[in-house]
Amino acid sequence: MKVLVPVKRVVDYNVKVRVKSDQTGVDIANVKMSMNPFDEIAIEEAVRLKEKGFATEVIAVSCGVTQCQETLRTAMAIGADRAILVETAVELQPLAVAKLLKALADKEQPGLIILGKQAIDDDCNQTGQMLAALTDWPQATFASKVEVVDGRVQVTREVDGGLETLSLQMPAVITTDLRLNEPRYVTLPNIMKAKKKQLDVFKPEDLGVDVTPRIKTLKVNEPPKRSAGIKVADVAALVDKLKNEAKVI
Ligand code: AMP
Repeated sequence: MKVLVPVKRVVDYNVKVRVKSDQTGVDIANVKMSMNPFDEIAIEEAVRLKEKGFATEVIAVSCGVTQCQETLRTAMAIGADRAILVETAVELQPLAVAKLLKALADKEQPGLIILGKQAIDDDCNQTGQMLAALTDWPQATFASKVEVVDGRVQVTREVDGGLETLSLQMPAVITTDLRLNEPRYVTLPNIMKAKKKQLDVFKPEDLGVDVTPRIKTLKVNEPPKRSAGIKVADVAALVDKLKNEAKVI
């Protein structure tokens, strides 16, 4: 069984992003970019499925600019066997990515597609769900445990007040939550090995997909600045401030 893992190149989670002066978006020039953290978890899970003998091949896929190749090399250093870049300079929205992934699913016929639950740049949380709709495959979102049992995939999800376990027929779409696993460190020998692994490049046209954006961003604003807090001497002073200054009690 092949496992397809879409990985997105996003602004590194340690970077404090700045809104562009014309409010059209955030400034990503000269900013550190990394693999979306939930996608690192997805790659790790796919590699573990291969190590356990359930998967035969792990294929990482990224859609975007040429530099996404770096993200794909990282995925291959974690353990993906090969990679596919769908190269375009067009700003990709979740529906466009889902359509590209559907075209690749038709081509590669994977048993599982494991995505991140959300990209930390757009926070959309849409691509996995849209892909499940386009492929008409079962989906289990926000996975905190994935097991293959008797030819089906069993996914545990953290829901309000407990855990929900789903059993899905494959092929299926899974999206990862934070607690699914802790991705391994990428070692230097594996980085070197990853450089030699196969990386195929397609254009959206090669896959017959129109990636024209459907949604227009009107404006991006900085969050309001918060004023610094103060230390109060005791509980009485705190209660007094809550009552007379903040007027919340
Ligand atoms: P989103 O719906 O944008 O929050 O993204 C959810 C997941 O879809 C991500 O964690 C990735 O696994 C996948 N994804 C989104 N955009 C891309 C992209 N440009 N290339 C590859 N995978 C993507």
